[in-house]
Amino acid sequence: MPDFDVLVVGAGPAGAACAKSCVQAGLRTLLVERRPLPRSKPCSGLVALEAERFVTKHFGPLPAACRSRSGDYTGIALHFASVPSLFVPGRCKAANVWRHSFDHFLVERSGAEVRDGTRCAAVEEIPAGVAARLCDRPGQQSRVTARYLVACDGGYSKVVAVVAPEVYRQTAWALVYQRYYRGRIELDPGPYHTFLARGMGIYTWVTFKDDFIIVGCGCMRGDRIGGYHRRFVEHLRSRFGFEPKESLRDEGCLGNALGPTNRFFLGKGRVLVAGEAAGFLHLGGEGISAALATGYLAGQAVVSAIAEGRDALTCYLAATRHERERVLDQWSFTRLFRSFAHPLALGAAFARYPWRHYPGLVRDTYRFLDQEGRGSGVGAAMVRNSWQRLWSRRRYSVGEVEQE
Ligand SMILES: Cc1cc2nc3c(=O)[nH]c(=O)nc-3n(C[C@H](O)[C@H](O)[C@H](O)COP(=O)(O)OP(=O)(O)OC[C@H]3O[C@@H](n4cnc5c(N)ncnc54)[C@H](O)[C@@H]3O)c2cc1C
Repeated sequence: MPDFDVLVVGAGPAGAACAKSCVQAGLRTLLVERRPLPRSKPCSGLVALEAERFVTKHFGPLPAACRSRSGDYTGIALHFASVPSLFVPGRCKAANVWRHSFDHFLVERSGAEVRDGTRCAAVEEIPAGVAARLCDRPGQQSRVTARYLVACDGGYSKVVAVVAPEVYRQTAWALVYQRYYRGRIELDPGPYHTFLARGMGIYTWVTFKDDFIIVGCGCMRGDRIGGYHRRFVEHLRSRFGFEPKESLRDEGCLGNALGPTNRFFLGKGRVLVAGEAAGFLHLGGEGISAALATGYLAGQAVVSAIAEGRDALTCYLAATRHERERVLDQWSFTRLFRSFAHPLALGAAFARYPWRHYPGLVRDTYRFLDQEGRGSGVGAAMVRNSWQRLWSRRRYSVGEVEQE
């Protein structure tokens, strides 16, 4: 008899949602997290509308303590190299949270048995299900068995690397980094700011949380992120009057390009994979809504497997088709404007943008994509996704690393 019905690895939104659905169904659920809780997570903490709805439905209303004192996100501001910035208002505000307290709220409400400071180091299939090697202190290891394991361990998943190493060998990786400053900057603290300027990496952003100004950028793995970040800070100094007074902390992580390139990895045997580990990430780096949804679906697939004797992975593959299409719609030129995760008034914003700036806007965007978009394979994947969506009209042929 295994120690648990389900072992959930990783206490982010996917892990908490998975644990919640398993506990609700009465399964013996263990949630392990390698870091002591509450743990921080590199993130802008924008909780999209569907994510907030999901949280309210399954976990209860977002506590005020999770929210940033600087207020909710009001939309997105796009800053170009040579033409005036474009503000795209949200159709409603999106919560701006601190991830350490947001995630901790979810984990506490999941009702699962939680072991923090405990890393899952290895996984193997056994006749009764899965055995995992857990490390809770240097040199201290234990073995836990479960009927199923759900990997919710984020953008670089140790479980995926162990169970199916070929998946990660075939994907591109982005490195993202952000730094927290106190100081002043001539930007409205309401929107999420992103910048299409060359020489500062594939993606740049400025956000506000409490009295912090957070400045971040991303590049492909192997590039030097420090140089991009320095250039971005200089750009903010010269264009937006950025005057950093003190820099308090920095954080970074790796992110896989599985989802945008339609190479989702959803699991193998008794191991299911959810959230960013599986490739669920929307354009602009919005991943909380898909992590919550797929974590919950993975839990439900395990519940069906145990209660009805069905194959968990088959149930999960079918259940996540919609979420996979939602990700692919984001990374598609033809669907992007209609399917943005945070409902933005894009059409109205572009309609108000002065026509005389359109040639410059197109030029800036093209130059940016031409210089920064190379190497990741994401631009080519977006063209392919757009074509597949047009050609198949309703659906993508979802998942090249497909177990269906
Ligand atoms: C800079 C940045 C900004 C972002 N901004 C936003 C945003 O504003 N809005 C949004 O929706 N999304 C945003 N995202 C994406 C979002 O953070 C992720 O998509 C989301 O957190 C994924 O949730 P998850 O549960 O799959 O994984 P995570 O939240 O990454 O959680 C994984 C957990 O697993 C743990 N873990 C890892 N390995 C092990 C192991 N071996 N054993 C045990 N535990 C382990 C980790 O410590 C972590 O706690 C951003 C991402 C980045 C990098």
